[in-house]
Amino acid sequence: MKKLALLGSTGSIGTQALDVVRCIQKEGDDSVEVTALAAHSNIRLLEAQIREFKPQAVAVFDLQAAQQLRAAVRDLDVQVYSGMEGLCALAALEGADIVLNSVVGMVGLEPTLAALRAKKQLALANKETLVAGGALVMEAARENGIEILPVDSEHSAIFQCLQGMHTKKDLNRIILTASGGPFFGRDRAALRDVHPADALKHPNWDMGAKVTIDSSTLMNKGLEFIEAKWLFDMAPEDIDVVVHRESIVHSLIEYRDHSVIAQLGVPDMRIPIQYALTYPRRYASPVRQLDLADWQKLTFFRPDEETFTCFGACKRAIQRGGTVPAAVNGANEAAVSLFLKEKISWLEIGEAVCAVADAFPAQPATCVADVLEADRAARAYVTEKFCR
Ligand code: MG
Repeated sequence: MKKLALLGSTGSIGTQALDVVRCIQKEGDDSVEVTALAAHSNIRLLEAQIREFKPQAVAVFDLQAAQQLRAAVRDLDVQVYSGMEGLCALAALEGADIVLNSVVGMVGLEPTLAALRAKKQLALANKETLVAGGALVMEAARENGIEILPVDSEHSAIFQCLQGMHTKKDLNRIILTASGGPFFGRDRAALRDVHPADALKHPNWDMGAKVTIDSSTLMNKGLEFIEAKWLFDMAPEDIDVVVHRESIVHSLIEYRDHSVIAQLGVPDMRIPIQYALTYPRRYASPVRQLDLADWQKLTFFRPDEETFTCFGACKRAIQRGGTVPAAVNGANEAAVSLFLKEKISWLEIGEAVCAVADAFPAQPATCVADVLEADRAARAYVTEKFCR
């Protein structure tokens, strides 16, 4: 029986994770139980989740919403924490043995570190954590003897492909697939006037707003490139990205004899979520089977780095190292948020990210404070320089 603390339970990954838990429990095998839930501020949904799953503790990031929730669940025996402290308390909760961190953005860094220090198994869907604080997170994982279980579909694919690997020396490179997003094939001129609603239409995946916009700019693949470098301890030159429009091949690895292993499936996050929760075991899934004949052909292209400048910016950021990836991530979070409010254009997201990737000073990232400061400075720069 695994006792799960789910951070980000009302978001896209969080609600799908609870769906996975329901299905596993329905199989008659109570191998995952929900011990803790945390959300940003959607207390209506959180309250429904509390009544259904009966966790021993919950946390709400927004202080005012936490107060409202306390009143709403007075009749239940559940402890309600709040703020960043509350998130970290849940990540380290005594009754939990696996933490699924699916909060969006840099705000996930401290809970990730708290979970590792408390020696919890960590299923990580919060890629910004590894992008901004990769060295700190991997060091905490090593020190505490924790293997991080990836939830991101591409990284779960690579993790699954690696299960048969005899020695790390046999691994030549990893190949991440990218859907190309809604603007695949367009050039910069055709992207001058796109609106948030256009960028929010992902062709294959149903995801939260932040990652959908990141997918439209290819920033998502840049973040995943950095995530892969840390998770699998790969040199950046041994990570390739190929655009694969159908999102059926979730990623691949190449061994040194040039044999290539891929993981495939219909695009549905419940597969990688479930594998992280039940690893190393597998359970039946409600996700539909892949019938390759339905697809007839799968297509692959090189990424267009000239149009989608965020991707190259992330590669330069990881080469420069130190706090630069944290700054680039912070710049992107700020830019995406401004774009969603229609305060900057879609092209300006790329301009902001590139400006920070190339011009921000590379400081050593030796503690959380270094990372948070780079994040803050980059956000301030983007808001001041780009916001109309
Ligand atoms: Mg992904």
